[in-house]
Amino acid sequence: MIKRVCVYCASSAKINKIYFDATEKLASYLADENIEVVCGGGSSGLMGKLADTMLAKGGRIIGIMPRFMKEVEWCHTNLTEIHLTETMHERKQKFLENTDGLITLAGGCGTLEELLEAITLKRLGLFTKPIVILNTNGYYEPLKQMLDKSIEENFMSELHRKMWAFVNEPEDVLKALNEAPEWNADSIEFAVIK
Ligand code: AMP
Repeated sequence: MIKRVCVYCASSAKINKIYFDATEKLASYLADENIEVVCGGGSSGLMGKLADTMLAKGGRIIGIMPRFMKEVEWCHTNLTEIHLTETMHERKQKFLENTDGLITLAGGCGTLEELLEAITLKRLGLFTKPIVILNTNGYYEPLKQMLDKSIEENFMSELHRKMWAFVNEPEDVLKALNEAPEWNADSIEFAVIK
């Protein structure tokens, strides 16, 4: 049962409207389903759109932000809750605590780094929840190809492909979260390719 999700997404506002529209749609579905969202807490870009839409629909949105970002006023001011951390590392750890799933929307290096860390933790059995990547406008095709290549070249195994799901439309995200293959802490046993 999905009650709370973590959403990684862009801070940039200078991106095609198509990414904002997809974010708005997804936030609407999440709010309608009473799913609580944890995010970076920023007010700009897709993070801002996610928060504004959740709030307008009466949903709960929790931001986790390092203190230095709040000090430079990057923080959204109306979030349901805001948790401040001392470091970026602590922030990333908190994103994944008590979440039932992870959704990644389009984003830059911050989003990619957060997503790849979650995939790495999942490979090691330290994070076991579903990971769904919203491939709006085919933005994540190169990442999909990179992950495929790393399996083809035996840097990961076929078993690892079950760690993530790519979907094209916001309306497919919840289904993908609910239908994600089960993943257990014992995945550490096949983390290394021999
Ligand atoms: P990116 O995908 O590169 O835009 O990065 C999104 C992530 O970058 C967030 O989770 C934050 O770690 C960080 N970040 C960058 N700019 C901001 C901002 N203006 N407000 C909040 N977080 C930001």
